[in-house]
Amino acid sequence: MQDVCVFCGSSAGKDPVFMQAAKALGDAISSASLGLVYGGAHVGLMGQVADAVLEGWQKVVGVIPQSFASKVSHEGLTQLHVVDSMHARKAMMFELADACIALPGGFGTLEELTEVVTWAQLELHQKPTGLLNINGYYNALLVFFDHAVEAGFIKPQHLELLIVHHDPTQLLQLLEDYKLQAASHN
Ligand code: AMP
Repeated sequence: MQDVCVFCGSSAGKDPVFMQAAKALGDAISSASLGLVYGGAHVGLMGQVADAVLEGWQKVVGVIPQSFASKVSHEGLTQLHVVDSMHARKAMMFELADACIALPGGFGTLEELTEVVTWAQLELHQKPTGLLNINGYYNALLVFFDHAVEAGFIKPQHLELLIVHHDPTQLLQLLEDYKLQAASHN
């Protein structure tokens, strides 16, 4: 694993614990000598995770659509790709990374997260996807996913495609283990 894509809120959230978690994830990424790929903005949790990885002297690559590049781009990144659309952005973020992690966020984060899990269940890729569940932020979503399994809309084995943990370092290790396991099966 070399580069991790992080999906997260463009907002900071009301509880400071979410910004602290974004910093902790950035610190864990740089401590593991990994690079970060993300949405390229300086705002909210997005800016915080990028700043933490930069402070650890690791590579940060942003991918941002032309339409709001001038308003929210982070000016200090290792590399910033400006693309034509949100679709092009998501495709590029995914292509550039070996694994994806979602921190707390809103609709944008949920959309990015569920898209990569959908692609995994269709066997379009074997990149691991992690959910960093800070302060139980995602508990209600996980209960809903169980409900979707019970109702017959998500297959139980597909639920396992999402690796959930509350600790950034341990989550990174679980993603690494998943990759090694997938490689040994190929
Ligand atoms: P949200 O969770 O709704 O705040 O959306 C955050 C996610 O969607 C990020 O991972 C970005 O890729 C994208 N996104 C949504 N809003 C913005 C924004 N104002 N600036 C940059 N990226 C955004």
